[in-house]
Amino acid sequence: MDGFEVRNYNTKKGKGLFATKQYNQGDVILEEDPLVSCQFAWNAAYRYLACDNCMRPLETPEQNVRRLSCKPDIVLPHSDCYETNLENLTGCSQCEVLYCSDACRQRAYDTYHRILCHDTADAQHPIMILLEAWKQMHYPPETTNIMLLVRILAFIQQSSDPQAAALKFKQFCHRTVNEDAELVHKLLGEQFTSQLETLRELTINVINGEYIQEFLSPEGFCSLMALIGTNGQGIGTSPLSMWVNAVLELTMSDDERQQLDLFIDKLYEYVQDESGTFLNTEGSGLYQLQSACNHSCAPNAESSFPYGNHRIQLKAVKPIMPGEEICISYLDECALRRSRHSRQKELAQNYLFVCWCDRCTTEASQPDCTSEEDMSEDEIDADD
Ligand SMILES: [Zn+2]
Ligand SMILES: [Zn+2]
Ligand SMILES: [Zn+2]
Repeated sequence: MDGFEVRNYNTKKGKGLFATKQYNQGDVILEEDPLVSCQFAWNAAYRYLACDNCMRPLETPEQNVRRLSCKPDIVLPHSDCYETNLENLTGCSQCEVLYCSDACRQRAYDTYHRILCHDTADAQHPIMILLEAWKQMHYPPETTNIMLLVRILAFIQQSSDPQAAALKFKQFCHRTVNEDAELVHKLLGEQFTSQLETLRELTINVINGEYIQEFLSPEGFCSLMALIGTNGQGIGTSPLSMWVNAVLELTMSDDERQQLDLFIDKLYEYVQDESGTFLNTEGSGLYQLQSACNHSCAPNAESSFPYGNHRIQLKAVKPIMPGEEICISYLDECALRRSRHSRQKELAQNYLFVCWCDRCTTEASQPDCTSEEDMSEDEIDADD
């Protein structure tokens, strides 16, 4: 696919993704697999069974909704409208890790799993000790996983050209030592200095070697943590929502449609009662092209996971002209509806930049929001 290019800004902004042709609303701009991805630690602990390589859930929509609602008798109609592809399920021959396909097993083994393969039942294994320490520091809602960092190190170490592999990761947006520390502080909270040192020591017990030395120094480790914290793209997959999307595409009578809508509403009610909003298989990944896509508060593109695994798709949400920068929103829909003051506060806190997108620029020339609005926004932030 071409029709876009990555350009370097000669400023702090780093890179940007620019259209080289016209896109209409709904056009696919790019699709990409991540260099590495990893399910979140607590998400995995809560039995969101997924392919260890591509995060495809290893459950049918029916099994998924039965588990999330604690109702083992639910039967989903039109179950054939969604292809689960679970018949090719396989595992690592040396440990209990599961994959959705032979291709995923092979790719994982060839890129990072060979040196990370271990007995998951052995609680004293350095990987299990690191994972346990991480889970005690980082409770849900989860935003990243130390295992993503470990996979990066393994990816470099296992590569036939480790220097080129390391360079792939160094090309992600990076910052000054102080900024990295600030981001990691945000990620780990109050105890950050001691926690970071603990994580670094435990990581060294897991993996060490000539080509990854620079990432295991206190500064290098901090900057790698900041890299996964800010460039890590959240991945969410759900067999239930894939099934819902598929049945919405089916043709049926109005009567049938109405019945089905009611049924789906009921399903989500059951699920909500038992599992709250903790519904998806979640993790994060590092995407070379996607990560070059900057933020705008009035985005012209959005990303999604249409294949129910970690393959990301970037689509135009409005017409984009050649030469125009392609931007997504780093804020969720709710945050995007708030005032400039509130949006900029969130972006500054989480990504350390001040947004000067067209919308922010226009709104900056308008009268400032009242202090009353500021206060209510601060209350909303506190609830988040
Ligand atoms: Zn897979
Ligand atoms: Zn294994
Ligand atoms: Zn903005």
